[in-house]
Amino acid sequence: MAQVSLRDVCKVFPGNISAVDSINLGIENKEFMVLVGPSGCGKSTTLRMIAGLEEISSGDIYIGNKRVNEVPAKDRDIAMVFQNYALYPHMTVFENMSFGLRLRHIPKNEIAQRVSEAADILGINRLLNRKPRELSGGERQRVAVGRAIVRKPMVFLFDEPLSNLDAKMRVQMRTEIHKLHIRLQTTIIYVTHDQVEAMTMGDRIAVMKDGNLHQLADPIDVYDHPKNKFVAGFIGSPPMNFMLGRIIKKEGKIYFDEGKIQVKLVEDMYKKISNYVGKEIFFGIRSEDIYDKLFVSEAPPENIVRVNCEVFEPMGSEVYLYLNTGKHTLIARVGAHDRPKINQEMDVVFDMSKVHFFDKNTEETIV
Ligand code: ATP
Repeated sequence: MAQVSLRDVCKVFPGNISAVDSINLGIENKEFMVLVGPSGCGKSTTLRMIAGLEEISSGDIYIGNKRVNEVPAKDRDIAMVFQNYALYPHMTVFENMSFGLRLRHIPKNEIAQRVSEAADILGINRLLNRKPRELSGGERQRVAVGRAIVRKPMVFLFDEPLSNLDAKMRVQMRTEIHKLHIRLQTTIIYVTHDQVEAMTMGDRIAVMKDGNLHQLADPIDVYDHPKNKFVAGFIGSPPMNFMLGRIIKKEGKIYFDEGKIQVKLVEDMYKKISNYVGKEIFFGIRSEDIYDKLFVSEAPPENIVRVNCEVFEPMGSEVYLYLNTGKHTLIARVGAHDRPKINQEMDVVFDMSKVHFFDKNTEETIV
């Protein structure tokens, strides 16, 4: 069983730099867990502590049922794939892949068999006699993964493994690592700052910021029910639109008043929002929940908002509209053939059943 558990794990670097602040995280056997967050949030440090490459300042780390705080990296039964691949330039692909096994005095015929199996899985058999300089970025990445696979570790750790690849290769390798997980059935902990990678690969994702874990859940849950404004803005592309405004009550109905625009809340939200009447609040709406009114057959008048379309970006399968309310700019994702007139007013419709509200001070989710 290769579950990994972090209990109150902290990392303070010399100079009192707190990189990881009391993280509790349980990764289940065979789970694909993604640690995601902006640069400097402590995700690589967390991974390196699991690997044993970084000492922990306090707390405990368990791999399987064993506490590994004092276990050296080489004895932790994990394999790590780094962003820069860390291949030995003077060795062939075969030698790179077999190096760790040779150090462990695994018999030659078993080494040959394990390398051949891993090379088959990754489709790199024809590269075994080449040196790293004779490989493309994607091929080097496969060799780095192959070197991890041959070890048959309990846990794979990936630290931003795709960030040196071009956009097309990233997407391809993303799918390959995903398939690899299904095939190998092992625990994977994967670090990335790319929320698309996190959403598409993780069984669960751990969203981090400033050394803290902000939310741990499956990707759709994080997307639909972000715990706070940071998570709401970080997960999703384009990011969630936010507006600061005020909650007001008129004739028994509750509205969000941004200053220039006003929309009525759905009644299901009234109870949770009633404490905020008269107060400032953050309103959040995802770009796919804003529609061009021209394409909506029946829209409640209190959900219709007049905006100025400043720019549109055709993306192929959809179009991004940049809409100015007079106070805020919002991005809407609309159908591929929607071509509003630039710098002219247009009406859009908010799907008010999908909007989010965040406390202005704590930024925690209210609805
Ligand atoms: P990135 O995506 O940029 O790699 P990250 O989320 O992986 O970022 P870490 O590399 O874990 O972040 O760094 C977390 C914090 O710890 C940062 O503020 C960083 O400057 C600091 N830090 C990391 N390594 C050291 C070190 N060896 N000495 C001092 N501070 C460090």
